[in-house]
Amino acid sequence: MSQARYDHSVAGLGEANFEKLRTCKVLVVGAGGIGCELLKNLVLVGCEKLTVVDLDTIDVSNLNRQFLFRKKHVGKSKAVVAGEAIKRFNPNVEVEAIHGNIITNPLFKVDWFRGFDAVINALDNVDARRHVNRMCLAADKPLIEAGTTGFLGQVFCIRKGETACYECFPKPQRVVYPICTIRSTASQPVHCVVWAKELFKLLFGDASASMLFDDPAAEGEPSSFAAACAAVRTTTEPSKAVGAALAALCDTEVKAQLALGTYKTAKKVPTPLSSPELTEGASSQPPSTIQNRPADWDRAVWTAPQCSAEIAEVARELLSADMKDRLGSWEFDKDDEASMRFVAAAANLRCRVFHIDPLSLYEAKGVAGNIVPAIATTNAVVAGLQVLELLRLVEQKCILSKERTSLAEVGRYTYCQRFPTGRKCELLQPVALEGPQPTCYVCSKSTVVVALDTTETTLQTFVDVVLKKKLGFIDPSIEKGHTGYVDSANPEQAVLLPRVLAELPDGGVTQGTRLEAEDFANEQIKFTIEVRHKPNKDFDEKANPERVDILTGVAEAAAPAPAAVATHLDFVQNDENAGPPAAKKARTDA
Ligand SMILES: [Zn+2]
Repeated sequence: MSQARYDHSVAGLGEANFEKLRTCKVLVVGAGGIGCELLKNLVLVGCEKLTVVDLDTIDVSNLNRQFLFRKKHVGKSKAVVAGEAIKRFNPNVEVEAIHGNIITNPLFKVDWFRGFDAVINALDNVDARRHVNRMCLAADKPLIEAGTTGFLGQVFCIRKGETACYECFPKPQRVVYPICTIRSTASQPVHCVVWAKELFKLLFGDASASMLFDDPAAEGEPSSFAAACAAVRTTTEPSKAVGAALAALCDTEVKAQLALGTYKTAKKVPTPLSSPELTEGASSQPPSTIQNRPADWDRAVWTAPQCSAEIAEVARELLSADMKDRLGSWEFDKDDEASMRFVAAAANLRCRVFHIDPLSLYEAKGVAGNIVPAIATTNAVVAGLQVLELLRLVEQKCILSKERTSLAEVGRYTYCQRFPTGRKCELLQPVALEGPQPTCYVCSKSTVVVALDTTETTLQTFVDVVLKKKLGFIDPSIEKGHTGYVDSANPEQAVLLPRVLAELPDGGVTQGTRLEAEDFANEQIKFTIEVRHKPNKDFDEKANPERVDILTGVAEAAAPAPAAVATHLDFVQNDENAGPPAAKKARTDA
């Protein structure tokens, strides 16, 4: 190529390697924060064969950093608009832009992945990362993975048999707050937001699963708010009932706890709120319904009566005739407007009680969804590093070459730090890649050990919670020896789904049973699952409501994790923090 636009790349790579790069077929998964930077880098460096997939459409909130998009693109496909934009950067580029879900779209099978020379992830959630990881392992294609969380970021390469895969290191569990902190001794805004989410559950969801629920069998004083909260569900006057419940929660109960001496040694001693303010507030007009409200009403800190009004408004909505059926099954969702308004208002009241600066709806949403603000610079750094990794793959003959250099020899795991760290005081810290972990059930086919109550858990729950949610199967099949238990192609087996595991045919699933599980969506995914019986009563129901333990890599527990691995985890999985138990996407930027 003699075009001036590629001179810099040719100078760096040499003619032959540049030609490889130019014709290298690259799949970019994700066209968001990292994806926009990445696509721009790829076309400027001279990659001309690009495919980009993204399921999202452009939102106004993307425009501050996803610079391939303009206001007129809001509502349009990210992949398609990004594809059009980069063609204007470099008209030689052939871009196939696909608006679709990388996990569920039937087009994206293993064979389709085989058609690329390299895959680059620019994703914002663990499920999709896990899926692309598995597809690339199955297709034997190198994957350049990346992620950012605020100022932090990481870039690393994955290749079957050569390096650790995305799932080689177990994901850390969510932070679980002690019940007493949530119920009685809040000291941080997040405690108040968790309390508000628990209150939402107590009023409209599965009340008995709420941290604020009084177990009738438990000893000790019943709370002074239980009856008033329970009354909200059955009331015909939501405003009145909500007012009474809030007065019980924020006034009566606080006074009762003070009288009991709960806060004798506490750092923060609560102050009760004024009951009349709360009860009157509940019958007034909330900020969210005020006509001509200021554009930034969600960024304003509501007063206590406004919070009370907001909560009553949500109650009226959820208790209305056409919503009544869902009462008892509501789950908090930060993207659901009503439940978010409720949680913002309730957290605000709780903050007031504990002398913590109350949050606006916008701030509460950040805390509730564990949203770390995306930083355009980190995205740009990470996307730049991904392209450098791609150049390395080409130059070092890891791809597009008859010889095949192992990625383990040349690839790097690079951390972006917030502050200069390490001996050399650097912001970017490249370290050698780890090899495939023998305990990994994805790339090393180690046995997955699952502990659950085999006499209570149904096959349906096993499929939904263990296989699909925890292990990432899409279309699972299960066999015990020659007996099939689950197979979507065999509808006769569907009758087994409601049965408990121990009562399945051929001896059922009990302590020590080994099952063969396969994913029809990816024929390479085959696990052996060893089931251990753990009675339901032995699970901490609040910390582990699904009552399933996945014990991957049994040997791992014996060996202490080296420090390097701990660092690895801090970065790779920090996007997991936002993952509530439901299959919610963790939103970090990508
Ligand atoms: Zn692995």
